[in-house]
Amino acid sequence: MAKISIDLGKGAIKEEQPNELIVGIDLGTTNSLIAFMKDGKPYALKDENGGNTLVPSVIHFDENQRATIGNSAKSYLIEDPLNTIYSVKRLMGKSYQDVDQVEGYLGYKIIDEDQERLVKVRVNDRFYTPIELSAQILAALKSRAEKVLGETVSKAVITVPAYFNDAQRQSTRDAGKLAGLDVLRIVNEPTAASLTYGIGLDMEEEKTVAVYDLGGGTFDISILHITQGIFEVLSTNGDTFLGGDDFDRAIMDFWIKENKLEVSTVNQDKSLSQSLRLKAEEAKKHLSTHDHFDAQIGTIHCQISKTQFESLIQPLINKTLAACQSALKDAKLEIEAIDQVILVGGSTRVPLVKASVEKCFGKKPFDAIDPDQVVALGAAIQADILAGNNKDLLLIDVTPLSMGIETIGGLIDVIIPRNSKVPVKAGRQYTTSVDGQVKLKIAVFQGERDMVQDNRKLGEFILEGIPPMAAGLPKIEIHFILDADGILTVKAQELRSGVSQSIQMRSQYGITEEEMGQMLLDSLKHAKSDMAIRALQEARVEAQNIILSSKKFLKNNVEILSEEERSTTQKLVDQLSESVKGEDKDLINKAMDELNEYTNPLAHRVMDHAISHAMKGKKID
Ligand code: ADP
Ligand code: MG
Repeated sequence: MAKISIDLGKGAIKEEQPNELIVGIDLGTTNSLIAFMKDGKPYALKDENGGNTLVPSVIHFDENQRATIGNSAKSYLIEDPLNTIYSVKRLMGKSYQDVDQVEGYLGYKIIDEDQERLVKVRVNDRFYTPIELSAQILAALKSRAEKVLGETVSKAVITVPAYFNDAQRQSTRDAGKLAGLDVLRIVNEPTAASLTYGIGLDMEEEKTVAVYDLGGGTFDISILHITQGIFEVLSTNGDTFLGGDDFDRAIMDFWIKENKLEVSTVNQDKSLSQSLRLKAEEAKKHLSTHDHFDAQIGTIHCQISKTQFESLIQPLINKTLAACQSALKDAKLEIEAIDQVILVGGSTRVPLVKASVEKCFGKKPFDAIDPDQVVALGAAIQADILAGNNKDLLLIDVTPLSMGIETIGGLIDVIIPRNSKVPVKAGRQYTTSVDGQVKLKIAVFQGERDMVQDNRKLGEFILEGIPPMAAGLPKIEIHFILDADGILTVKAQELRSGVSQSIQMRSQYGITEEEMGQMLLDSLKHAKSDMAIRALQEARVEAQNIILSSKKFLKNNVEILSEEERSTTQKLVDQLSESVKGEDKDLINKAMDELNEYTNPLAHRVMDHAISHAMKGKKID
């Protein structure tokens, strides 16, 4: 039966549409899954054959750059490791420096031309950002859901770890957009897990819970305080490089030792190391319910007992328990204050993990719901609340559109993302781009598109009186304060001199519901081209920097470099300059890569030369 409501503004009667489906998505490091509500209960979506709910977060690209996602991609980990991407979540919102320690462990190529920029993944001669790769996984989940449910899926709630920062959450949001999803809310994974166990659904109850999440690549412990429908994260701790993969790795190392294999030989043979890795995972899962595992890969004997396995992983589990203690300390809580412990993640199926957690908290943890599904199910429950199907539940107030300022290249830099709880305060530091700059124009925009011209301008002001300094020296802090009524105050302050300015603007003033809806629709429609423009702009800026530094390099090292080295470098620089004029970001990236590959050894030689030069004439005693 259709419901009828009255629009008081227009005095019109409108018929309410039946509530549309909003799905919940757990975008995991190792596995992803999608869940939905039916008759008031959450279900994890099974594949077309009614089997698996988990979609391995693995993407394989064939020679035509066509992507396969999930189980069918997983087998390529052995056959075609260079073109098979996994653990993308580890790279979200990260620079190369942040992920340095895993590179040897990943079978594919991460681009490392610039230590401080966001990472990219190279497949053949194409470059992908972690956002694009995550979008592939989300798009696969979306189309799987559409096939199975027989309806269009365009709205979703996606979960992220509680510790994810702004850049990581924003990247997740962008990935959703790129996959054609309107991401209504980014929800913390521990919040979703609690909801699945019904915690937080009763407005009267007040609870403190610990969510212990041991997945494939990461360990998270979160302490939440839940009252009146508000989930407050008291503390988080964990290890972004500790999970079931490390259990696999431990078994693999054990076999390498037992079979007296050379570690370096195994590491170089990516196919062999992947076979061992998959076999080790099989062994681990087997040992969750058996006492012994025995198999063979060629001439390599792969056997291990449960006791041996447990002694290998005990130190890793101990690390997780220490993190739990730190989380309690940060939350200023004694262990007795924890009302419930919830187990999340496939690795909590390992009996020693369960037993250790129980001992640590002195409480039997909640493990009745499938630990792989508990997060996605909670996301579906949250989606249902957002869809308005659970009217008694209070919704925390959020900002409907993102707010940010204009930066170089006409891009918007979001300071308060859409759906932030209000009141909220957020800030970021900027600097000048020209020497001696004494004024800075701060233009404030609202909307979801990447270029400011496509968003709505809220206002602008000029910060004056910056003492003249070299470009990059002034530290200009810009703060956005959004109060509960949607009134935005923007403050700008140059920290070295203390000059400051502020302005108040009303963000929602004059914008109608329809306009807001249209802006969101536009952002969805244009998400692909926006992302492409942004990626192109970023590649161009990066290329310009490299061109400049290469020119300097050539000029300063005329004597050290050979004629041929100089001319080849110059040729590659010209090629890069040429590519920047075009519109093809992959071509720019490729040219950058070639130039870097060629000049890296030269740069090393120049450095060695400089060092030996400096040592000359110095006595060493
Ligand atoms: P993520 O949240 O990182 O995507 P999941 O929660 O899906 O990860 O957990 C994946 C991890 O769980 C993998 O390391 C996998 O090997 C492990 N796992 C799955 N089932 C079992 C099992 N029965 N016993 C032990 N480990 C398991
Ligand atoms: Mg997970």
